[in-house]
Amino acid sequence: MRFFIFCYSTLINYLPDILTYPDMTALWFEQQREIEQDNLTVNEFLDGIEKFIEEQLNQAENIKIEAKGEPCECGKGVLVLRRSEKGSFFACSAYPACKITLSALNNAPITE
Ligand SMILES: [Zn+2]
Repeated sequence: MRFFIFCYSTLINYLPDILTYPDMTALWFEQQREIEQDNLTVNEFLDGIEKFIEEQLNQAENIKIEAKGEPCECGKGVLVLRRSEKGSFFACSAYPACKITLSALNNAPITE
């Protein structure tokens, strides 16, 4: 049970809001009472949660995180600040499809 609680509190930081809704917690609490009353087995309970989390993870894979920044010449991405051993530079967020890079000066791209 301790392991499960750890997983749940860790997942809360990464999964969609639906997992943090009080309804969800209430449902799981209710199911734990069902277990106490022998109306539900621990495995059935955990299978249900596992299936639910799997569905949530599948949905999370389809979420695209949009980068903010100056639009790139390619029209597909934006210029985002990257750091390398040689210093900072700007690269297109559409990399590897677009390999445009620009030098950076004071965290701003140098355009000529
Ligand atoms: Zn680009």
